Amino acid sequence: MEENSHASNFITEIIDKDLAEGRYTEVHTRFPPEPNGYLHIGHAKSICLNFGLAEKYNGKCNLRFDDTNPTKEEVEYVESIKEDIRWLGFDWEDRLYFASDYFDKLYEYAVQLIKKGKAYVDSLSGDEIREYRGTPTEPGKESPYRNRSVEENLDLFERMKNGEFKDGEHVLRAKIDMSSPNLNLRDPIMYRIRHAEHHRTGDKWCIYPMYDWAHGQSDSIEGITHSICTLEFENHRPLYDWFLDELGIHHPRQIEFARLNLSYTVMSKRKLLELVEGGYVDGWDDPRMPTISGLRRRGFTPESIRNFADRIGVAKRDNVIDLGLLEFSLREDLNKRAQRVMAVLHPLKITITNYPENVTEELDAVNNPEDPSMGKRKVPFSRELYIERADFMEDPPKKFFRLKPGGEVRLRYAYIIKCEEVVKDENGNIVELLCTYDPETKSGTGKSNKKVKGTIHWVSAHHAFEAEVRLYDRLFSVEDPAGDKEKDFKEFINPNSLEILENCKMEPFLKNAKVGDRFQFERLGYFCVDSKYTTEEKLVFNRTATLRDTWAKISKQQQKK
Ligand code: ATP
Ligand code: MG
Repeated sequence: MEENSHASNFITEIIDKDLAEGRYTEVHTRFPPEPNGYLHIGHAKSICLNFGLAEKYNGKCNLRFDDTNPTKEEVEYVESIKEDIRWLGFDWEDRLYFASDYFDKLYEYAVQLIKKGKAYVDSLSGDEIREYRGTPTEPGKESPYRNRSVEENLDLFERMKNGEFKDGEHVLRAKIDMSSPNLNLRDPIMYRIRHAEHHRTGDKWCIYPMYDWAHGQSDSIEGITHSICTLEFENHRPLYDWFLDELGIHHPRQIEFARLNLSYTVMSKRKLLELVEGGYVDGWDDPRMPTISGLRRRGFTPESIRNFADRIGVAKRDNVIDLGLLEFSLREDLNKRAQRVMAVLHPLKITITNYPENVTEELDAVNNPEDPSMGKRKVPFSRELYIERADFMEDPPKKFFRLKPGGEVRLRYAYIIKCEEVVKDENGNIVELLCTYDPETKSGTGKSNKKVKGTIHWVSAHHAFEAEVRLYDRLFSVEDPAGDKEKDFKEFINPNSLEILENCKMEPFLKNAKVGDRFQFERLGYFCVDSKYTTEEKLVFNRTATLRDTWAKISKQQQKK
């Protein structure tokens, strides 16, 4: 782990103080996902924070699924969440928990509050409860059922549990204060009746605890010391404190931080699900999705995501992070470790007319100039090659240093060539270039002093194999797709976010590439072998990132200001 993941911030200051004052003697955090979707980059921030704090203080971090809401597909989500956390490089050891493990305990706690006169069964309808609740500027009204006797409440609550009532007939509420300026304290609902199957408890329960009732008590049961959550729970803290104090049980300290927002992205699970179910993307792990599984398929490394989380740090105020910063963290990591290779995405054939037929030279190519220990490889060179279409212009502007009629360019690791003739088909399309090479200019031999301004990549036509390459752009064409509440965020989907190139030419080294392997295609960007569409017959590459680094440019500009 990078050293700066242990840097100080306002959260570590609070923890340091708690430890110094003896409020806690250890640090025990948890990551509490609700298994109703796949994890996204925002969750990654929370995971890095919670597991990172445990690491920094030699403490522990639990994984707890907040599965208080019975729904259908939870098992798939539970498995994907576990996989994503492990992939990020964190380990909950033997501390995998489910809020549903605590349903019995929570029921007992509720009975305790009823007995103290601090909770009651309410029989108003949902609409009435909402009406009685008041508004931020007007106090609420007490329910006519608020003063039921303890005996009656105990009896009704037990019968709720036993399944004697229909959904919505009764709820259990905390008895706090209907005129509190904090709406969360206006007798919040603790339990509702739902005759539904739960992925773990089956049909044992037909009453389910509300999130606000389950969350703090779950933290307490697990002995969590620092319960770290996002800012929207700041207003809920007085309620959590009230429950814990009334029950007189272990009291974690809750600390709120600002959630991560990223430009050109949506992060709410509901919206991500809409993209998946509507077929706008090809699943939760579509490489354009901000999900961890999408980023993984796209070619992100766990290190780059962890470094990103460190870089953005934690704050108390909401902000939006530029997507470019995530890509910057990725490039920084891949630049150091991705094997470089040559691939031609839009091939144009060239024939070197003065190079002998049926001869292949094996040229030395550097695997990664950033890391000499990665060594060299042989690249075959022959009379017929492919270069990138965009590296030739028939009628180029002045500063075009690649290939043009009569012009010269260096082929990477090989020779300087000169374009002698442009071959066209009957429609005037360029189909081939006839070139000559200068045998004295072989790279690395130092025989010739000849210099040219441009160097381009290439592959040997006879030795290359074909692969599919998928180019991605941002999924949304505006910075804040969910910002305009009048409009559906899906209207801002970028129609050109995926481009599929079928017959790209790859240097033979890539033949052994395996799913998930990452490469830098020289001059083109970072690519990785796709896990979904790659078959025995065909390799499919995802473009992970371009080489162009917009973030470095932006931060330089900002430094100048
Ligand atoms: P959504 O609003 O998309 O449904 P959620 O917050 O309800 O997300 P949970 O599964 O409850 O999703 O989140 C698990 C943990 O991850 C919570 O502790 C939550 O605070 C944290 N988390 C969720 N989104 C972000 C984010 N964008 N930035 C930082 N932490 C986040
Ligand atoms: Mg949540």
